[in-house]
Amino acid sequence: MTEIKEKIITLTNKQGMTITLSNYGATWLSCLLPVAGKKRELLLGCCSLADYKQQSAYLGATIGRYANRIASATFNIAGKSYLLTANQGKNQLHGGMAGFDKQLWTIQKQSANQVTFALTSADGEEGFPGTLTVQVTYTLTDDNQVKIDFIANTDKTTPVNLTNHAYFNLDGVNEENQDARLQTLQINADYYLPVDSNGIPNSELTSVTQHDMDLRKPKRLIERFLESDARKQVSGYDHAYLLNQKSPIAATLTSADGKVTMDVTTTLPALQVYSGNFLQGTPNRSGREYPNFAGIALEAQFLPDSPNHPEWPNCFLQPDQTYQHEIIYVFHRLN
Ligand code: BGC
Repeated sequence: MTEIKEKIITLTNKQGMTITLSNYGATWLSCLLPVAGKKRELLLGCCSLADYKQQSAYLGATIGRYANRIASATFNIAGKSYLLTANQGKNQLHGGMAGFDKQLWTIQKQSANQVTFALTSADGEEGFPGTLTVQVTYTLTDDNQVKIDFIANTDKTTPVNLTNHAYFNLDGVNEENQDARLQTLQINADYYLPVDSNGIPNSELTSVTQHDMDLRKPKRLIERFLESDARKQVSGYDHAYLLNQKSPIAATLTSADGKVTMDVTTTLPALQVYSGNFLQGTPNRSGREYPNFAGIALEAQFLPDSPNHPEWPNCFLQPDQTYQHEIIYVFHRLN
């Protein structure tokens, strides 16, 4: 087999927007948007691929085979139990020890505004059943949309939950703007999932009106940040919101300076909102480190621990099905 080389790929559009990607982890490295004549970096990132390999924040990476947590790193299919590798206490987070974020993907197709990365995950890898073939396509459109399309097929029933772990600060990622909680967030969700201090769901889907988790109207994330019992549990926002299906836009993030907004739309049922509560120590682009809360991750996905909750949207992929989901980030400049 020929060895896969690490590559950096740049996509540009007619409006001067540029995104940079790598086949290491099928990772989104950078997102530069021209704002008032200057390119503004909207994404947290490191200064080298070597730094990406050391950090544990999953910056911009493609997450799989199962994004988020699976309790006690186990689940059942038709009465047979599967034991996964545990990489966060007794639980599995983001696919295990060597999830899709730590693998070198092949570049299947590439053009000026699009790239497709491909990966084969072996039967039994990290404990998951079935050989899974995965394709992730990034597209930058001329109207400032970044589209991420996920396709997967399996030869045995397996849980699949693919997402992207980009962290955003729409005010510009630099040494001046270190608190992304100054941004405003709106999420079209009536329900969220309470979790214990390990991030494992410990209750039914709950109305967002409980514990001050309501983001249906735009809210500055820093407001009453640790005054909610739900947020205290995990040092901030680190919760899945079940998206209202009737609403075309899942979430809208707006910079504190009001100059940039980002809409998120997706075919996936939920959105994990993570306010970067444990980011401290992650290498930044200037050789220093990010503090906590330097970026906000909005990860469209299935609900955490869904393999153990048949009452929630079904995350199991069957051999005769194709997993096909999309996440779109639309960037707007406001004057
Ligand atoms: C999780 C956090 C975790 C982070 C790791 C997020 O998706 O929800 O709990 O700390 O990923 O970077």
